[in-house]
Amino acid sequence: MSGVGRGVSAPSPTSRALDTLADLAEIRGETSDAIGYRQAATFISTLSPDATAALLNRAREDRLHGDPGIPARLHRRIRDLAVGGAEPIISAARDALPALFKALFDLGVVNSSEAALLVRRLAIVSLGDLQHALEMGRILQTFDESFDARLRQAAPAIASDAGMMPLGRARDLLESLSAAITADAPALDGLTPSGEVRRFEPLVSELILVARSHDPVTAIEQVCASRGIDAVVHRGPRRVVVTTQGSEVDIRVSAIDEYGTVLFSTTGSRAHLQAMRSRGGHLRLAAREEDLYSQAGVPFITPEMRHGTGELEAAAAGTLPRLVSREHIRGDLHMHTIYSDGADTLDAMVAACCSLGYEYIAITDHSEHAGSSRTVSRRDLSRQRAEIEAARERYPQITILHGTEVDIMADGTLDFPDEVLASLDIVIASLHEAERHDGKTLTRRCLQAIRHPLVNVIAHPANRIVGRRAGYPLDYDAIFAAAAETGTALEVDGAPAHLDLEGERAREAIAAGVTLTIDSDCHRARWLERQMAMGIGTARRGWVERRHVLNTRSIKDVRAFIAAKRRRR
Ligand SMILES: [Zn+2]
Ligand SMILES: [Zn+2]
Repeated sequence: MSGVGRGVSAPSPTSRALDTLADLAEIRGETSDAIGYRQAATFISTLSPDATAALLNRAREDRLHGDPGIPARLHRRIRDLAVGGAEPIISAARDALPALFKALFDLGVVNSSEAALLVRRLAIVSLGDLQHALEMGRILQTFDESFDARLRQAAPAIASDAGMMPLGRARDLLESLSAAITADAPALDGLTPSGEVRRFEPLVSELILVARSHDPVTAIEQVCASRGIDAVVHRGPRRVVVTTQGSEVDIRVSAIDEYGTVLFSTTGSRAHLQAMRSRGGHLRLAAREEDLYSQAGVPFITPEMRHGTGELEAAAAGTLPRLVSREHIRGDLHMHTIYSDGADTLDAMVAACCSLGYEYIAITDHSEHAGSSRTVSRRDLSRQRAEIEAARERYPQITILHGTEVDIMADGTLDFPDEVLASLDIVIASLHEAERHDGKTLTRRCLQAIRHPLVNVIAHPANRIVGRRAGYPLDYDAIFAAAAETGTALEVDGAPAHLDLEGERAREAIAAGVTLTIDSDCHRARWLERQMAMGIGTARRGWVERRHVLNTRSIKDVRAFIAAKRRRR
C-alpha cells in the first residue's frame, strides 16, 4: 500500500492502533501512558505513509531517540508494535482491563473510545457503576439515547455472565486480601468490606473494600504494590481495582472527611440509597455514616437492614429494632463432630466453644439414615453419651447438651424412635431429602416434625443451597403458625451454604411469633465463630432481636423451652 494521494486526514493503522492503546490505558487509569499514546498517535497521523514506515523502521532498530513526537516512555512499546504488529499488544491490553470492559468489548457494545469516555466522564469502572449510572439517567444526560439503550440492554447480560459468589467465599477472599494489604499499606487506616458483603447478602456480585487515609496518594501507591494483589486493572486517585485469586476487587481509599460517604454509597443497597436520597436530598461529604443519617433526620441504620424494605420509615418513626448481636449469643445449638460428618473431635469442638465464651452447646450429629457422608447409629449414640459425660467433667465451665440432627423421613416420621429421642437433651429435625416431593408434601412432612413433641428445632427449614438450589416451596405461613403454636424453634443456620432461614423469611417468622435459634451448623472447630457470625448477619437482615432468639437465653431457659414442649406429650 503506497498511500500516494491519500489525504493526511485519514489516520494510518499505526496511528489508529496508538489511539486504541491510549483509550485502553485511560480505562486502566494509566494517565501518563494514555497521554503518551495519544501524543504519538497525533504525531504519526501528521506523517506521510513513507515517513511512518521510516519511523517504524527506526523503532524496530531501537533508534527512536531523535523523534520528538514519540514520548521516551513509549519507545519500547512502539518497538514491540513495529516488530510484532498492533494486534497482540492491543489484545494484551484488553486482557488487562476491568471485567466490565472486557465484557462490553466481547459483546461488541462499545468501541474503545466510547469505553474511555465512560471512565473519563462518568468514572464508570465496574458493572455496579454502570448499573447505578443507568438508574440515575447519567448515561442519557451525558451521551445520547442510542448509547444509553445499548448499555441498558447489555447490563443484565453482563451481570448474568459474571455470576455470583457465595457470601462465605467472598468474606474469606476479602479477609485474606485485607490482611495482605493492611500489612503492606501503612498509609491506610482500616480496611472494611463494603457492598453486598457488608449487608450479608447470601450471594455477592461485587467485592468492595473501603479504607480511609490521611494520604490517599501514598496509600494507593502502597495498595498497588501489595503482595496480596495479582494485577491492578484500574487505578484512580481514590480507587484501585485489582484482581486476586481470579476475582476483581474494588478498593476505595477515601480521605478522612469523606469516608462516611464512600462507605455509605458503596454499601448500598440501591433501594436504600434511593430511599435516603428521597429523604435527605443529595449526598453530602461526611466523615462518618452516622452524620449522613442524622443529616437525613434519622438514626443510624445498620448495613444488614439496608434493603429499602421499610427501614427508613422505621428509623423516622423511632421504631428500629434493637438487633441481635454476637454478644447476645450464649450458646450454639447445632454442630457436628467426627461421629458424623464433622472434621473435628467432640473434645475439639467443646474446647473451641469454651474459648468463644459460650455457656452451653449442643452436639447434634446426623441420624442413622441421613444422606451425609457419615451418620450416627443408635449404638454410636450411647458411645457418644459416655464421651459427653466425660467431657462435662473436663469442661465444667460449659453445659454440653447431647442432641441429634435427626432426619425427617419421607413419611414425615423421624429417623430415631421416640425412646432414643427422649433420651437426648435436644432434638433438631431436618428435611434433608426432598424425595422429589412437591411443596405440599414437604410442608406436610415438616409440619409433622414440628408437631412431634420431642422436636425442638427445625434446622435450615428451606434446605436451600446458596447459589445452587432454591429453598423448598413450603407453605411458610403454616410452618410459622405451627412452630409458634407448638413451641418449636426455627433455625437461622449460619453455614455459608445454607444461611437459612434467610433474612426476609426470618422477619416473617418472628412476626408470626416464632422463636428462632441462630446456629453455626459447624463441621470444623475453627469455623464456629465465622459461621455464627454469618448466622447473626442473616438474622439481622430479618430485623431479628435478642428476644426472638432462643440461644440468647440462659441454659435454664433453653431447658425450660424444651421441657415445655415435652410436657405436651
Ligand atoms: Zn442439616
Ligand atoms: Zn447440621
